[in-house]
Amino acid sequence: MTDVIHLLPDHVANQIAAGEVVQRPASVIKELLENSIDAGGTNIKILVKEAGKTLIQVTDNGKGMSTTDARLCFERHATSKINSAEDLFSLKTKGFRGEALASIAAIAHVELKTRQEDDEVGTCIKIEGSEVVSQEVCVTPVGTTICVKNLFYNIPARRNFLKSDTVELRHIIDEFQRVALAHPSIQFSLFHNGSELFQLPEANYRQRIVNIFGGKTNEKLVPVEEDTAIVKIHGYVGKPEFAKKGRGEQFFFVNDRFIKSPYLNHAVSAAFEGLLKDKAYPSYFLFLDVDPKSIDINIHPTKTEIKFDDEHALYTILRSSIKHSLGQFNVAPVLDFDRDSTLDTPYEFSQKGVTPPKVEVDPNFNPFQNETSGGGGNSSTFRKERTSGNSWESLYNGLGGQELESSGMNQVEFESDEVTGNLFGFSDEKEAGSTTFQLNKKYIITTLKSGILVIDQQRAHTRILYEELLKNITVTSAVSQQLLFPLQLRFSTNEIEHLKEIRESLEHTGFIFSEIKKDSVEITGIPTLISESEVAILLEQLLSDLENDVPGAGFSQIDTLSKSLAKGMAVKSGTVLGPADQQNIVNSLFACKESSLSPYNKPIFITLTVDELDKKFM
Ligand code: ADP
Ligand code: MG
Repeated sequence: MTDVIHLLPDHVANQIAAGEVVQRPASVIKELLENSIDAGGTNIKILVKEAGKTLIQVTDNGKGMSTTDARLCFERHATSKINSAEDLFSLKTKGFRGEALASIAAIAHVELKTRQEDDEVGTCIKIEGSEVVSQEVCVTPVGTTICVKNLFYNIPARRNFLKSDTVELRHIIDEFQRVALAHPSIQFSLFHNGSELFQLPEANYRQRIVNIFGGKTNEKLVPVEEDTAIVKIHGYVGKPEFAKKGRGEQFFFVNDRFIKSPYLNHAVSAAFEGLLKDKAYPSYFLFLDVDPKSIDINIHPTKTEIKFDDEHALYTILRSSIKHSLGQFNVAPVLDFDRDSTLDTPYEFSQKGVTPPKVEVDPNFNPFQNETSGGGGNSSTFRKERTSGNSWESLYNGLGGQELESSGMNQVEFESDEVTGNLFGFSDEKEAGSTTFQLNKKYIITTLKSGILVIDQQRAHTRILYEELLKNITVTSAVSQQLLFPLQLRFSTNEIEHLKEIRESLEHTGFIFSEIKKDSVEITGIPTLISESEVAILLEQLLSDLENDVPGAGFSQIDTLSKSLAKGMAVKSGTVLGPADQQNIVNSLFACKESSLSPYNKPIFITLTVDELDKKFM
């Protein structure tokens, strides 16, 4: 019988290993950066072309390699970092497998130049698909430069699998930021196709975060500090009011290594419990130092997952230290989202200038009407003037038949069209004033002759504001509320450019910019519908919405702007609305050009006809 087992040639084994280590250009960057840091580099420069597909070059001023080491480092299991498996448990370095360079050299054209301090000259090695093609003596500064060209040149399937340059560059920037955040004392720079993306000077942790994420980040950070026998924690969490909709800036580092941990992430969320609005994620930059013996970083080839001995204790310590910080820095008490929102809404009258008292007569006053939500007639949180009577019903009736037909609204008539036990002798019109109520702080329910209308309050208000803002920007400008003290807000260079572009539109909505500088703006007036404390969040959201929008001037920009501002200003689900506000929303909604769909094309209301109800009782 013939033997069938044979050993794989090295270059094949290396290619297979490369599949695990190198998924995309960003993985190469990560491995090279880690090697440079392990080599004690204090200045690391990265050049990338076409998102790393054609060139990745990392230069460090670390300790360099001898000629023998330079040759050996491309061999599999060639590492200077461990000698025995035991060493794994006291690892202080990032690398240890001795796999990275061998893998990279198997799937790219690699050029290495390196020199140690005591050597007069350095070594230059070229290697292609695991084959050394040349080795020379060369003149080069102390440290190491590794140049990786034509990644995956010999594995077309992998090369085709790469995403667009934009996506691959995003991955590279992610890896870069993770490494740079963990090592603020090292200078880093990153260039793509000849232009500088990052130039990070030596700094402390806080400065490094700010240098990466922009000047305005500084005011958002709350320091976290904890020192226990199990773990030392330091770093920052973002103030809850700056929490973002997407999971953006969330970073855990364990012994200076970026890791992903859903479990620890949960601990952070738990600390923020009750402080965040729906679907908002806090940002965090947390550094955990633990005894290397108590973790196992070996479980994942790309080393972003980690196993802790005492996960449970870590969870508790992390949660309580963040809670403590949030409390200590007085972040928590200001953010009581459960407080009675009628006392504190964007539409507070207190924000307006003093107006002489007027005698007002409420034609809809009904002494027998029950005030359910505690909001009296005066506590109106809704700024809009009451539109004439309850005219919305007729407006609603007059709407084009199309959407009504589809929602079975053709047969629907309105409750107040019919006399329903006219107990107190009021006319029908007045009676209609009491036909709304709020469900679950989320829906406004109103009755129709042959059914009920359930209105999503947030979407309805967004639609109302959207149309009003559109009108303000394009036809008549809105009034502003003057600020007693001008508001200074900081923005990144990019954002400032954007703000300049939309300045005029914003001023039509009520904003007054007294100054736009290089990295900040001064605001002296804001729309009457918002409160000062909301301005920063609103503008930031707006800028990010505009950025994600398809670029293009003209109407699309005004539309996005109106949508974004309307979204930010609208009453949210969870807000208690008094009867007057409910009524106002209903009236204004049906005075809108389009009342059935929100600006984001979501249905604003649904109807339940008596027929449908009848069926349910069958
Ligand atoms: P590992 O980092 O797991 O040891 P690598 O394949 O990444 O494996 O690197 C192999 C060896 O090459 C390292 O252990 C180190 O001795 C040497 N080396 C790699 N990059 C550098 C560098 N930039 N400067 C100095 N030595 C380096
Ligand atoms: Mg390495």
